[in-house]
Amino acid sequence: MLSGTVLRASGGIYEVETPEGVYSAVLRGRLKREERLGDRVVVGDRVEIAPDPAGAAWTIERVEERRSALVRRAPGKAPRPKVMVANVDRVVIVFAVAEPTPHLRMLDRFLVLAESSDLEAVIVANKVDLTGKEAARRLFAVYEEIGYRVLYTSVRTGEGIEDLREALCDGISTLAGPSGVGKSSLLNAVQPGLGRRVAAISEHVGKGRHTTVTAELVHLSCGGYVADTPGLRELGLWAIDPEELDLLFPEFRSYLGSCRYGNSCTHSHEPGCAVREAVEAGQLPASRFDSYLRLLAGDDEEVERG
Ligand code: GDP
Ligand code: ZN
Repeated sequence: MLSGTVLRASGGIYEVETPEGVYSAVLRGRLKREERLGDRVVVGDRVEIAPDPAGAAWTIERVEERRSALVRRAPGKAPRPKVMVANVDRVVIVFAVAEPTPHLRMLDRFLVLAESSDLEAVIVANKVDLTGKEAARRLFAVYEEIGYRVLYTSVRTGEGIEDLREALCDGISTLAGPSGVGKSSLLNAVQPGLGRRVAAISEHVGKGRHTTVTAELVHLSCGGYVADTPGLRELGLWAIDPEELDLLFPEFRSYLGSCRYGNSCTHSHEPGCAVREAVEAGQLPASRFDSYLRLLAGDDEEVERG
């Protein structure tokens, strides 16, 4: 038996990276039957494979419990959740400080998605060469205050690239962010060719039929993996319970117990709301509260556009 990580899955063949190399494997019959009921094995899964006594192929014998899962809604008449990638450790959310102008409401939406999947979120503020670091820090100060890690990078000057590389070198990361902010350029700066590879796969994924959408892990030479998932953007907020939205804004958490209506307070109109009072007193960032209210109202489109 060998333990490994599933890098790709296509047509019932799984490529599994083990300490002894990459092997193609198929699902053992029992697992195969279970798979029809759900997403039994996906990219990112940790599995055990064994040589099949009947043939030359390897079979997946066991799947470890997932630490996390990126889920999207599978299209169809009765949409159901579909796991895209298992065991993702972090989402790297990339925005440019300028060109294009950052839409922080969209950043808030990505952060909520990361929180809802229990993923670490790292914010990358790229193109700092265009505004200088001071202006860039002012733009993202709110997020640093809340406690998110913000990396200030420039592909042009090389600033922050080493920090980004370090952030990607362990576990499985996925990148999110609008187009044109420099995601491919950053990946190429981290490891030559990486951006092109991830972009090519994503393009392929985008053109494929929805039912065949798959993800793939690309191994970094320093140890981590980058998942080429279509990104959080595709995932949507459909799975989030409006009653739990406030928990996905980490800076709200310490106030939630003090609302007059307790857990049932939506912080939108109720009297004696501790969150609202904190916003009015300047203790909580108004911009984030505004994003919260829009998401609560189901104003997803508007948040998308910024
Ligand atoms: P993606 O769509 O997010 O993958 O963005 P790309 O990597 O394709 O980059 C979009 C454009 O931004 C390209 O013209 C890049 O050369 C440019 N770009 C990327 N990073 C930087 C940067 O740090 N500074 C500046 N000034 N331009 C950058
Ligand atoms: Zn409240």
